[in-house]
Amino acid sequence: RLVILGSANVDHVMSFEYLPTTGQTLMSQNYRIEHGGKGANQAVAVARLCSPSTRVDFICHLGNDTLAHDMCHSWKLDGIHSDGVSKIDNLSTGSALIFIDKNGENSIGVAPGANDNLSVKALMEHQELLSRADWLLTQLESPTPTVIEALKLVKQQGGKTILNPAPAKNIGTEIYKWVDIITPNETEAEAITGIEVHDEDSAAFAAQILHSHGPSIVIITLGARGAYVSSAEFSGLVAAPNVMAIDTVAAGDTFNGALLVGLSQEHALFDAVTFANKAAAITVTRQGAQRSIPYRDCLV
Ligand code: ADP
Repeated sequence: RLVILGSANVDHVMSFEYLPTTGQTLMSQNYRIEHGGKGANQAVAVARLCSPSTRVDFICHLGNDTLAHDMCHSWKLDGIHSDGVSKIDNLSTGSALIFIDKNGENSIGVAPGANDNLSVKALMEHQELLSRADWLLTQLESPTPTVIEALKLVKQQGGKTILNPAPAKNIGTEIYKWVDIITPNETEAEAITGIEVHDEDSAAFAAQILHSHGPSIVIITLGARGAYVSSAEFSGLVAAPNVMAIDTVAAGDTFNGALLVGLSQEHALFDAVTFANKAAAITVTRQGAQRSIPYRDCLV
């Protein structure tokens, strides 16, 4: 059983020639709604890439609104189990308003809404679900004490844990003792270690610091170059396929979801990271968040 815990957001995206200034109203010729949020993106990636017999559970908090209804419907089509999804009255589903200008510059407002309400107490309602997890994948868009408690519960029951420490934020070092695998990108690796990661050598250096906190496997994603892996089993760069990237939204989330799928199928670490690179490379060739995440058929 694979469990993902994290955020779900609905992005409202409008494109303009230039960004509106204070007091100005502009008409957009292009409005779209994207289902996003790191937790939900990763859950969708896992569900689309794993074998149909694998059970995938997502733990998150939504509002009790139409945005939540639509998102749940699409997760159901992907085969995500919803026992861990709670709809909270009087709170809104996490939302982002994104304005983009013709040069791709943006201006964003985020209302985490119900995501912030996933407290440790609320998590306890899902204790049984977590206790049966073979693997937990989580990130840092949910309240930190909840993320720590979930990792701890799964570890103490003998499950394995992956922490994607995104977005970068100060979380102390206690959390790492419950983490088997940590998967920062370059910015997040630098935020945790203070090492500016820009190539294989600097990634190896940052990885040593990350190991010293606890995780036995460190995987630093390096964008178009792929990912640097540091572990007892294998260390080195695993290159990403060469593709024409048009939108890198959800690349890291696809990588993490695919990594979990590969590892849960007991693939060797190198093979699981190669699979993750392949899946994420497809995501960057497509526009959008959850809709850009590939299905298993595209990869095998
Ligand atoms: P994030 O999206 O979290 O910032 P990265 O930029 O490191 O993380 O990208 C995550 C993964 O997505 C990479 O390890 C790689 O597998 C894939 N990826 C990202 N950009 C590209 C690209 N231009 N070409 C191929 N793969 C890419």
